[in-house]
Amino acid sequence: MSIRWRSCWDADPQIHGLLKESDNLELARERLVRHLEELDWVYRRDVDKAVESWRYILIKESVRCMKNIISQRNERLAETSPIKYLWTAARTGDAEVSDDFIEELTHLFKAINGRAEVYPPHFMRGLRSPDFEKYKGRAAAQKRSAFLERIGERMEEYLSKYPSGLVPEIIERRARNKRRILDILKASNKDWNSWRWQFNNVFKDKTGFEVIKKAIRLTLDEERGIRLAIENRVPFGVTPHYLHLMDQEPSEIDFAVRRQVFPPPHYVRAMMEHRRDRKIVFDYMRERDTSPLKLVTRRYPRVAIMKPYDSCPQICVYCQRNWEITSPFYVGAGAAHEDMEAAIDWFAEHKSIMDVLITGGDPLVMDDEKIDYILQRFSQIPHIRNIRLATRIPITVPQRVTDELCNIFSKYYELGKQTLCMVTHFSHPYEVTFETARAIKRVKMHGLHVYNQEVFGFANSRRFETAALRIAMKQIGVDPYYIFNMKGKTEIEDYAAPVARILQEQKEEARLLPGVFRTDEAVFNVPFLGKNYLKAWQEHELISIAPDGRRIYSFHPWEKNIAKTKPYIYTDVTIKDYLGKLEARGEDLDDYKSIWYYY
Ligand code: SF4
Repeated sequence: MSIRWRSCWDADPQIHGLLKESDNLELARERLVRHLEELDWVYRRDVDKAVESWRYILIKESVRCMKNIISQRNERLAETSPIKYLWTAARTGDAEVSDDFIEELTHLFKAINGRAEVYPPHFMRGLRSPDFEKYKGRAAAQKRSAFLERIGERMEEYLSKYPSGLVPEIIERRARNKRRILDILKASNKDWNSWRWQFNNVFKDKTGFEVIKKAIRLTLDEERGIRLAIENRVPFGVTPHYLHLMDQEPSEIDFAVRRQVFPPPHYVRAMMEHRRDRKIVFDYMRERDTSPLKLVTRRYPRVAIMKPYDSCPQICVYCQRNWEITSPFYVGAGAAHEDMEAAIDWFAEHKSIMDVLITGGDPLVMDDEKIDYILQRFSQIPHIRNIRLATRIPITVPQRVTDELCNIFSKYYELGKQTLCMVTHFSHPYEVTFETARAIKRVKMHGLHVYNQEVFGFANSRRFETAALRIAMKQIGVDPYYIFNMKGKTEIEDYAAPVARILQEQKEEARLLPGVFRTDEAVFNVPFLGKNYLKAWQEHELISIAPDGRRIYSFHPWEKNIAKTKPYIYTDVTIKDYLGKLEARGEDLDDYKSIWYYY
């Protein structure tokens, strides 16, 4: 037996034995099915009442997943056969699979046998839950309150790793950063506060690169990636405001902020390689197949998207629309007037659309007159009950949210008729500043609600990192709305976090916050079809493990039980690889050990 299988077979010697003794694959499958059925019923029959309920839940889930991954049906859908590899390894000592695959199966076997490594969580180390059954009334309440207090304090220990820009020490740091950038550019505070100055000074070319290098120290990889992007005209740009969020020295604190806009070399190379076919290769959401008319995208019955401006002040590396955005403010990013007219007419003709999402790019890059015109046109369509403005401006150039712009907004917020709201995109508490808070306040003073869509990926997925973001956002009046699982688009695979991590975050971190702080819904965006709610087990299932250890999921489209639409098969990034990268960032992997048991 190859040494690398030892822990796997140790986790379930019975399965090892029955696979080893099976002469052929189908016999092995039959025996394993019978074994799992019997095991399942041992627990369900509740013969000796020895299995605690929390263990039972984990067992039941893992048995279901194990049955899933050995079923012929799922083998056909996933185009791989985990049981074939298991059987081969049991018979010959090894199989052509990665260590990631073996680790997945090891944890599955542990869970099946009631030995999932979940309790006690590392987060709760040293904290013991009192036996509340022994107490009654006020005494019970006081015991429980003291215990909950300890949990709250422990949360604070984690949360304090992720300061926002509202913390005095960070405010001072940002003031120094700003001064440094202004000195390099020989500009004034007045310049800084002007959105036109911010727009005109976006760092996107060789000169901008020199400014960035003077303002902060870049890592070797960052420097290589930016240089390559500029030399090869791959979308890249950073606003002065966003640059001042970065620390002079790179560290874990500003990691997510840098990673958001500094393209890694391999990403730039992928973009270069697919310069000609990127409209197909990188259009993960298949917008080309969901756009009934130029500038319009529709995936749902009652809401549709309009894209009047196709660029942003700065470019997020993981941008879903990296197949069409070519650079900040590129010439031609604004839609032609006749295309815009045709798009708005389309909305007027389609009476079932009640909500329009005006996005891009970033629509707030357009001038006030154009924004006013578009809002005014939509306000005249009686069946449009709500207009949503999707923008990252409060984070990239908060100065753009002027009183004049907000006065325009207020004209189209008319309770009883039609509402207008803003959907923004914070990804990290370090992006939350007082300048941004003032911009949000200005918007809210005019009646608009502000919601956030977070993209959850490797950079912002450490323990309680997203919880810290939720708290910072609530402090400035932004409501968490969606939290998107970052798709493992090939060009940014190292930016992604596994589906299991977002499920773990929702259960073990978000759940500890008060309800009004965790109003976000965790979603997976299914290409062509739209959002799938991740928390509902009815909406997705683990169907296989690929030989390289990636989980393969079947996502049921939102149309399930409404229209017969085929599920979407998605191959995730591997958990082992993800954990390895977290460890390299200094994380204690004990903190994540239950991730394997979220399916
Ligand atoms: S703000 Fe949105 S549209 Fe603009 S680059 Fe970032 S992800 Fe893309």
